[in-house]
Amino acid sequence: MSFEKNLREEFVRLLGKDWVKDDPVTLYTYRCDGLTLYTAPPMGVLFPGTVQELVSVVKLLHQHKISFIARGAGTGLSGGAIPQEGSVIIEMARFKTVHEIDWVNRSITVGPGVINLHITEHVHSHGYHYAPDPSSQKACTIGGNVAENSGGPHTLKYGVTVNHVLGVEIVLPDGELVTLGGKHLGMPGPDFLGLVTGSEGTFGIITKIICRLTPNPEKAVTLLGIYKSVHDACESVSSIIRHGIIPAAMEMLDKITISAVEKALKPGFPLDAEAVLIVELDGLADGLEAEAEIVEKILLETGATKVNRAKDETERAIIWRARKEAFGAIGQISPSYYVQDGVIPRSKLPQVLDEISAIGKKHGLTVANVFHAGDGNLHPLILYDYENPEEVEKSHKIGEEILSACIRHGGTLSGEHGIGIEKAEWMSALYSQHSLDNMQNVRAFFNPENLLNPGKLFPQPGRCAESKAGTPPANAATIDNSKIVAAKSGIAV
Ligand SMILES: Cc1cc2nc3c(=O)[nH]c(=O)nc-3n(C[C@H](O)[C@H](O)[C@H](O)COP(=O)(O)OP(=O)(O)OC[C@H]3O[C@@H](n4cnc5c(N)ncnc54)[C@H](O)[C@@H]3O)c2cc1C
Repeated sequence: MSFEKNLREEFVRLLGKDWVKDDPVTLYTYRCDGLTLYTAPPMGVLFPGTVQELVSVVKLLHQHKISFIARGAGTGLSGGAIPQEGSVIIEMARFKTVHEIDWVNRSITVGPGVINLHITEHVHSHGYHYAPDPSSQKACTIGGNVAENSGGPHTLKYGVTVNHVLGVEIVLPDGELVTLGGKHLGMPGPDFLGLVTGSEGTFGIITKIICRLTPNPEKAVTLLGIYKSVHDACESVSSIIRHGIIPAAMEMLDKITISAVEKALKPGFPLDAEAVLIVELDGLADGLEAEAEIVEKILLETGATKVNRAKDETERAIIWRARKEAFGAIGQISPSYYVQDGVIPRSKLPQVLDEISAIGKKHGLTVANVFHAGDGNLHPLILYDYENPEEVEKSHKIGEEILSACIRHGGTLSGEHGIGIEKAEWMSALYSQHSLDNMQNVRAFFNPENLLNPGKLFPQPGRCAESKAGTPPANAATIDNSKIVAAKSGIAV
């Protein structure tokens, strides 16, 4: 697959030849994102460098009725940036400008290609940071974060992306440029900004983001509880919350993950522990010590055999590096992994973790766990060999059974990685057809011809679970948009 000759010439005229790519290496590179279980090559990849260039290529694609997808760093784990057959990828990596830092309004305005961690690096010495901190924050873009409404270890206390985005500029699929929100608080009328955040790149292409800046905490205390059983570690999580304490983060790593991070990073976690629980408290220095003592006591009372405390910033950084690079460390013990993102009520953690382990055993594959325990947001990592078709098949099966368990226990499909291609079919397990139609009507308000990122988020008519990628763009004509398209001019431009 590649661009048709005339179309290619048009793109080259608009962007210049270096920014239009459809050679085999590019098509291979962009065939998937962080979810490597599904692949489909794009028609080609475009690299606009300005909003004007982006608008002009979007208008051209719209005119030719060719589907397209925005892509940030490609770290997404639900296949959101995997192109459907024939889709063109629009790579947003060149939108790296920091437009403005506004200390009075505590905001920073950035292009969508800015890396999450770079925002904090820009403002940290002035006493601020950008709070949502996905473990991929060294690589993922803020545009991808807004599209996925990303979370991270510290979202237990600070909230997810939607709580930290004040405004966005987006290009709608017909090329119209729209601004939603701003530095001021709130907007009368429906929360379009909230709708766009987490719409998984199906409503518009984000070209500018106004992010909220959060003051750095005066002090942080990081504790590491060590456990002989995962159940005890779960009990500590429940007990801390029951005591009315909301730590900044509560993250758990099980024995398998501990062995992987010890091989890769050597943070000094005990290899004989069944689980470790990272609990971080932050805030004003006054009172934090007292709170840390209460938490330490709770950890010991609920089964921690030992509680270590980071003595300084270096030790704290070692603990966090081990947590944040845990997925990558799994490469030390398995050729590939498939990570799930189900959410369950915190109280169900022990039960569901037991079930997950039993599901893995039943199918003969190992499942490791490293997750946002405080939020009940599980990340079971199904370890498999991508060169072994039987294991690939089993990993799909295990993933499905885990999702099914999460739903059965009153949970849901995704805490932060999104639905994408991976869980689109599963939306029917959670919502009635009527609800799904209504949600698709909302999408159709922004994206009436379903040209932008088709095949994501919603079940596809006639699609079977085995062919989640590679199906043609969905036909939005099944949805009656007529009533809502008229309201489009209500968006602030
Ligand atoms: C090791 C690892 C750890 C991770 N940890 C976390 C975590 O702790 N928390 C978490 O929430 N996620 C985590 N993720 C998932 C992933 O990093 C996030 O979903 C991230 O927000 C994706 O950003 P990206 O720039 O890579 O986007 P991509 O993968 O390129 O795209 C993701 C989606 O966003 C859309 N998109 C991208 N840019 C734009 C734009 N400018 N306009 C409109 N749509 C756009 C794409 O179309 C796609 O649907 C992790 C991933 C990895 C590999």
